[in-house]
Amino acid sequence: MLSYKNTLIFFAVALLLTVLADIIIPLSFWVYVGIVLVFISILAWGSATIRSGFYLQSVCLGNRNTRAVALTFDDGPDGQVTPMILDVLKEQNVKAAFFIIGNKAEQFPEVIKRIDAEGHIIGGHSYSHHFFFDLFSRRRTMAEMKRTSDVVFSLTGKKMLLFRPPYGVTNPTLARAIRAMNFTSVGWSLKSNDTVIKDDDLLLNRLISGVNKGDIILFHDNKPWVVKLLKTFIPYLKNKEYSIDRLDKFANLHAYVY
Ligand SMILES: [Zn+2]
Repeated sequence: MLSYKNTLIFFAVALLLTVLADIIIPLSFWVYVGIVLVFISILAWGSATIRSGFYLQSVCLGNRNTRAVALTFDDGPDGQVTPMILDVLKEQNVKAAFFIIGNKAEQFPEVIKRIDAEGHIIGGHSYSHHFFFDLFSRRRTMAEMKRTSDVVFSLTGKKMLLFRPPYGVTNPTLARAIRAMNFTSVGWSLKSNDTVIKDDDLLLNRLISGVNKGDIILFHDNKPWVVKLLKTFIPYLKNKEYSIDRLDKFANLHAYVY
């Protein structure tokens, strides 16, 4: 499998062979430019594609042979939208996973308590969700993870083990931080696109055509249109005899330290 380590070794060898070849038969400068461009492109693809497992393995999928899916929500808690989503989940008797932002958890502690009390699981999604989070040092990344973990622990008494990288972007620093924290990285296999599309009918149609056995589905619980979307999508899944399982059971993970 294509990994960061293998790629580094491959390109180091390729560069060495190119330099040796250059000594025997002078090569164009553009050969070197080409090698560097391909190298950078692979690193960028690895960063942007959490499912690639390029920098670290992330849980992005359940069992493709089992008619089940897991619902996951990022970027909350939101003071208004998250409680409405919790209402829908309660009505439908569905348990989900919430990847929360630490500073929002501090703002809406009651929502975190409710998520936990109603049987959903909570994972980390950084403290700040800063636009440049992926450029933070390992120390700063870990400080964000720990601060968020501490906030959730103070509210629920549970120590989180799951982490979803902000923007789904991974890199060597984040990979080291996740390993050092003993977290499990969680991605997704189907995203609802609810951050770019506001029309719940359009979102529903896209989900219906995309959903498959074993999908981990990504939503955002700070987008009000997701409430209406769930009111139709969850009954659709039930109608199609999908089981909607909580992520930890679904993917055989531990959500918390016990
Ligand atoms: Zn996010």
